[in-house]
Amino acid sequence: MINVTKTYLPPLATYIMYLRRIWKSNQVTNNGPFVQELENKLKEYLGVKHLFFVSNGTIALQIAIRALGLKGEVITTPFSYVASTSALVWEHCKPVFVDIDPKTLCIDPSKIKAKLSKKTSAILAVHVFGNSCDVDVIDRIAKENNLKVVYDAAHTFGVRYRNKHLVSFGDVSILSFHATKVFHTIEGGAVITNDRKIAERVSYMRNFGHKGEEAFQGLGINGKNSELHAAMGLSILPEMKRLIEIRKNNSLLYDKLLSNCSIVRPKTSVNIEYNYSYYPIIFESEQKLKKVVDCLLKNSIKPRRYFYPSLAELDYVSKFHTPIAKNISKRILCLPLYSQPFEKEIKKISKIVRDTL
Ligand SMILES: *Cc1c(COP(=O)(O)O)cnc(C)c1O
Repeated sequence: MINVTKTYLPPLATYIMYLRRIWKSNQVTNNGPFVQELENKLKEYLGVKHLFFVSNGTIALQIAIRALGLKGEVITTPFSYVASTSALVWEHCKPVFVDIDPKTLCIDPSKIKAKLSKKTSAILAVHVFGNSCDVDVIDRIAKENNLKVVYDAAHTFGVRYRNKHLVSFGDVSILSFHATKVFHTIEGGAVITNDRKIAERVSYMRNFGHKGEEAFQGLGINGKNSELHAAMGLSILPEMKRLIEIRKNNSLLYDKLLSNCSIVRPKTSVNIEYNYSYYPIIFESEQKLKKVVDCLLKNSIKPRRYFYPSLAELDYVSKFHTPIAKNISKRILCLPLYSQPFEKEIKKISKIVRDTL
């Protein structure tokens, strides 16, 4: 089966080298040396001041929401993975959905103002498929209206916008290091900020609020991650440049083989250095998408309908009219894309898409 994503595993010998050191020290968790080393290397790689390695991207979002004290209504996008909305609801915030830009698939900032109310506390935007939101306009709206900004940057590892890593925007950005993402630690994520006060709150929050062994500073949760997960990250991080280059070549091959096909590709923002995290294609109709999916499945190829359904359709959110997200979510499909060469498979997949259309 050719799946939509394939976890990149580093050379086993590299990981075993880390495991030997863990076995020697006998420290497997609780802010151990590999967690600290990974955090330091990631801060350097991403050019950010504060970064906290946590158990997953979803807890990173929930900690961000708590650390910023968000409440009431939060402006967000209906076109994302469910976690960007469920985290808000879990933290007792009300998602207020704003429709997306049909070209970039990110939240359309020109539609935000109409949805602001006295209860709005923040904007939680998603850099969809690693494509940058309009960070300048979002920042301006936030400043004018005294709102916080959280970026779900789960797809953006390594993406730079105007020569700065995208994760350095907003009051807080979060990353996911899930096994399906471009850079991963099996399970994992990060809370990122350049603000010292927010960073201090996050540092207590992710470790039960512990301030030393016998004192606590505020309410916390267990958001820690382990030495074994950090070791996976340390094994993969030095390879990122090469892995993104392979993804780029795979994407370019799809581009070539799928040109003159009746599909549309999301537009990449200008001034961006991209990470080729996904390969989404948009069909003319849901009917055509379903036909292609059927043919691919018959050939043991499993694409994913990212993101379907639109999050505005969830049964635990209030209703908002976001027709563009609803329409695109029915017609968009992510084709398999890996951090390893698989030219033969890309040719086969592209041929099936072309022939079916
Ligand atoms: C993967 C993902 C998450 C959740 O991350 P986990 O590490 O799986 O909890 C959140 N938002 C988006 C956009 C994602 O793709």
